[in-house]
Amino acid sequence: MLNTPSLNVVNSSKFSQGFVKPLYDSYCFSNIPHTVEFLLTGKGQSALPPDVFGNLPTQYDKVILFFVDAFGWRFFERYTEKYQFLKIILENGVVSKLTSQFPSTTAAHVTCMHTGLDVAQSGVYEWNYYEPLIDEMISPLLFSYAGDKERDTLQRCPVPAAAFYPRYTLYPALKAQGITAYVFQSAAYTPSTYSDIIYRGATVIPFKTLSEALALLSEMLLAEKVAPAYYFLYFDRIDAYGHVYGPNAKQFEEAVDLFLTRMEQFFYKPLHGKVGHTLFIMTADHGQIEVDPRTTFYLNLHAPGTERLLRTNQKGKLLVPAGSARDMFLYVKEECLGEALASLQKQLAGRAEVYQTQDLLAQQRQKRWRYPYLCYHYRIFGFLLNTTGPTWAALFCFSLVFLGGLVALRLSKS
Ligand SMILES: [Zn+2]
Repeated sequence: MLNTPSLNVVNSSKFSQGFVKPLYDSYCFSNIPHTVEFLLTGKGQSALPPDVFGNLPTQYDKVILFFVDAFGWRFFERYTEKYQFLKIILENGVVSKLTSQFPSTTAAHVTCMHTGLDVAQSGVYEWNYYEPLIDEMISPLLFSYAGDKERDTLQRCPVPAAAFYPRYTLYPALKAQGITAYVFQSAAYTPSTYSDIIYRGATVIPFKTLSEALALLSEMLLAEKVAPAYYFLYFDRIDAYGHVYGPNAKQFEEAVDLFLTRMEQFFYKPLHGKVGHTLFIMTADHGQIEVDPRTTFYLNLHAPGTERLLRTNQKGKLLVPAGSARDMFLYVKEECLGEALASLQKQLAGRAEVYQTQDLLAQQRQKRWRYPYLCYHYRIFGFLLNTTGPTWAALFCFSLVFLGGLVALRLSKS
């Protein structure tokens, strides 16, 4: 079933031209973790609007959540006709449209999923940002200084790793309520400093291939009598191939094909009707759009004079780049805010929209959008360039607010 109210509400939530305004109060990705908690404990109420479950029950012994990076709404629509697995979900489950948070980035959404904190609370908003703790630009998921290719280069600094990440995380809270949690993630980056801290309280299971993960997950689901339990799986290949080859490439199609056919064969077929009160949820943090790197606008090359307006750290190093390829954050000197806004808006007209982050925050006050924690304030001070195409990469770097979605499918017999 398609959740039509969710489509109507999300489709009318607009920001400027062509951007989507996150619905932190209702149909937003950031409400998923607490909804899972509600499904497994029955305590409180669903953080997501109840219609995301249609006529399905709202209490389960087991919840399985697949975070399929970049498989946003656009791709759900593109592949529904072609793949049986998506048709099964549409016929037997509920498919809802959700907004991503802003920024609609992997760093913000992965952190939200494992902590239950929205981006303003976790402060982990992008691939790169300024970290006041050490007065440096960092890549939080890698636990490295921004620009470093290898992981864990921040181990060299005297500040303990845990200080870089939110203190509150989801799994100890679940455990306290008797819920066992498992996190399946690629062995290529598991375990890591980030996962050791953010996933604590869960049993982390690194996997080499999706088939291997699905086989193990199925085995556990069929054998495990312990309830309630939460099984989380992160799949990165669709996103990774989209980045390298583009969302219309053969390789991207192959990654989608691999995922959706495996899900039908090695997940749905062996489990359907055999696992008691179990709900399967699938969601994404964003989609992907086509970009042509040759049309990149490099602020440092094509907007001369920008560097003069930007802040530096104590060592005199420019605080760049923050954000990523389509949502660039600039740390602007306080006295240059007015000049920078006028200059960037002029030079980026038709390419990007430029906002002062404080103005965006002021617009975002909603019931469930908690007031941003200080770490978030410190990390986003300055400007946001929100682009409709590729803008800046290489030395400094940008996002459309992509749409994620959520599907819920009951695996137990009705
Ligand atoms: Zn992502």
